[in-house]
Amino acid sequence: MPPSEQLDTLVTVLDLVRSGISTRPEVIRRSGLGRKVVTQRLVQLGHAGLVTEGDLAPTTGGRAPRELQFHSDAGHVLVAELGATSISVGVADLAGRLLDQHEEGAEVPTRPDETLSRVAKLFDELMARRPAGGSPLWGIGIGVLGPVDWATGRPISLPTMTGWGDYPIRERFAEQYNVPVWVDNEVNLMALGELRNGLGQGERDLLFVKVGSGIGAGLISGGLLHRGASGSAGEAGHIIVAEDSQVRCWCGNSGCVAALASGSALAREGEAAAADGSSPYLATIRMGEHPRPIDAEDVVAAAAQADSAAAELITRSGQYVGKMLAGLVNAYNPALILIGGSVAAGAGDLILAAIRQVVYQRALPLATRNLRIALSPLSDRAGLVGAAFMVVDQLLSRKHLGRWIDNGTPSGRVDIIHASP
Ligand SMILES: [Zn+2]
Repeated sequence: MPPSEQLDTLVTVLDLVRSGISTRPEVIRRSGLGRKVVTQRLVQLGHAGLVTEGDLAPTTGGRAPRELQFHSDAGHVLVAELGATSISVGVADLAGRLLDQHEEGAEVPTRPDETLSRVAKLFDELMARRPAGGSPLWGIGIGVLGPVDWATGRPISLPTMTGWGDYPIRERFAEQYNVPVWVDNEVNLMALGELRNGLGQGERDLLFVKVGSGIGAGLISGGLLHRGASGSAGEAGHIIVAEDSQVRCWCGNSGCVAALASGSALAREGEAAAADGSSPYLATIRMGEHPRPIDAEDVVAAAAQADSAAAELITRSGQYVGKMLAGLVNAYNPALILIGGSVAAGAGDLILAAIRQVVYQRALPLATRNLRIALSPLSDRAGLVGAAFMVVDQLLSRKHLGRWIDNGTPSGRVDIIHASP
């Protein structure tokens, strides 16, 4: 294991190369380290198979520097995102690029054992499709619905997630695949995915809001995920946005934004609009030839067909989300807010316009002066991309890299998770 001062400079040099700095002089300039130290670290990183020094970079005169490259094919990671109604899995390289992925419907909230068995089955299928002689598996990243105790990788108990509280997700996958495993709230991972590979690249203060069957937020502050003292940061769905509301939330309060503006709320309000005839489009679904209950997707589809009652429901949902965000903007002053999740993906511009209007109207001008609000460009891939970066960032961190770099791979090193900092 490299001595600690060596490890500091090793991670500094590696981070610069990972961020795209491709010449030795530029690494020296940005790191503030001496030429000799940088050369030694690059040799070490080369031996570990993490950095390659290859083709000649374009030059403006003098001797051409060699092009440095992070070896993103040195290993791969398996990632999964468990939503309320679906499972997504993927294989990513060490640069967070998804090489293969799969999504299917599932009843996640009430079935931890079945869900995780299915994830393992899908992981096996992805592995079987990998080219023969490919890179080794380096780690696994899993995003789950709701808050997670970051240190143990176990979900915090929620009444809406039967059986998931304290479930040893990390141990289960570490034992089966013999690699380090990290688990986090899927909304945190969406924020991380956008920060590292989406519209958030180059930002340091970013808020990701998921409007799906529930509502949650992931906060990046100063370039790092803010998880809070016990992992529950970002449970923004329970911010009260309507004091006089009679709508009860599962948390016991009334007027929570999740109870008023989420996909579940849209489904409930859509049912009412079908029943009282204010939405002809939804009434046809509810009482037509093949009657069925209204869901959030129906409301989104109705709005897209210029059904004014449905459009109004989505606008109102956006206004409630905007009200919640105005408070968060005042408190956290992000530079960028990204809106994702199934409702936002479907209702796009309509919900975004309502959110923007309320945020710019209600938040302090100082906090909104340079604020951008946009739809998540990675959308349904953000969680998987974020899960890949979570694993790779941890493996290549000051805390963990020294524990395995001498072996050339973290495969088989389930124990490094418990490394002291
Ligand atoms: Zn609530």
